[in-house]
Amino acid sequence: MVPPKLVIAPNKNGNSPGDLIRPEASLDDLWKAAQECRGCDIWQRATQAVLGEGSTAAEVMMVGEQPGDREDLEGHPFVGPAGKLLDRALQEAGIERTKVYITNVVKHFNSIQRGKIRIHKKPNAREITACRPWLDAEIARVHPKVIVCLGATAAQALISRSFRVTTQRGELMPSSLAPLIGATVHPSSILRSPDEETRHREMREFVEDLKKFALQLPRSALVPES
Ligand code: SF4
Repeated sequence: MVPPKLVIAPNKNGNSPGDLIRPEASLDDLWKAAQECRGCDIWQRATQAVLGEGSTAAEVMMVGEQPGDREDLEGHPFVGPAGKLLDRALQEAGIERTKVYITNVVKHFNSIQRGKIRIHKKPNAREITACRPWLDAEIARVHPKVIVCLGATAAQALISRSFRVTTQRGELMPSSLAPLIGATVHPSSILRSPDEETRHREMREFVEDLKKFALQLPRSALVPES
C-alpha cells in the first residue's frame, strides 16, 4: 500500500477520529481521513499524519509510539534510523518484514522546537486516548495474530498501564485486541545506548524477544530457510 501524501490546510472544524472514521473505510481511506484529524493539538506541529503500512493480511502488527522527524517529513512509518534497526532485527529473528504491519499509537509527530531542530516529545495520556480510534481502526482491518508493542508507551496503552517493558518484555499473552500481544523495547532506545558494547547487548536482547514472538507465527510470516 502506498500511502497518499496530502497537504491539507488547517481546518477549524475540530474534526476528531470519531467524526472521520467510516465503518467501511479501507486502510487507504483511513490515511486520507487522518490528514484532517484535529482530535488533539499535535497536528499543529506536524507535517502530516502517518498511519501504518503493510498488508491487510499481515500476521504481525508492530506498534511504536509515534512517527519521528523523518517519518513526519516522508509520510511513512519507521523509515528513519530506528526503522532500519528494526528491519535488521526482524531479518535476524527470521520474521519476514513484508508480513509485518507497522504503525504507532499516535499518528502525528509530537515535538518541541529547539532552534532549528524539532525534538521528540512523548505524547501525554490525553493525546494517546484521543488518537486511539485510528489504531483500533487499523487493528480491525488487519486482524493481526500477534501484536508487538515497541516500547513502554505502546505497551502501557495496549496491554496495561502497569506494564513494565524491562521485566515483562518477550512474553506473549492473550488480548481482546489480538489472539496474542507482547512487548519489547522501542528500537530507538537501542540507538540511544551510551556505548557500543551496550548497543550490541541491547540489539541481541531485542532480537531474542523477536525470536520468541516468531515462535508463535505461522511459517508464512517467517523468512524462508535457505
Ligand atoms: S495525534 Fe492523533 S488525535 Fe491528535 S490530531 Fe493527530 S491523528 Fe488526531
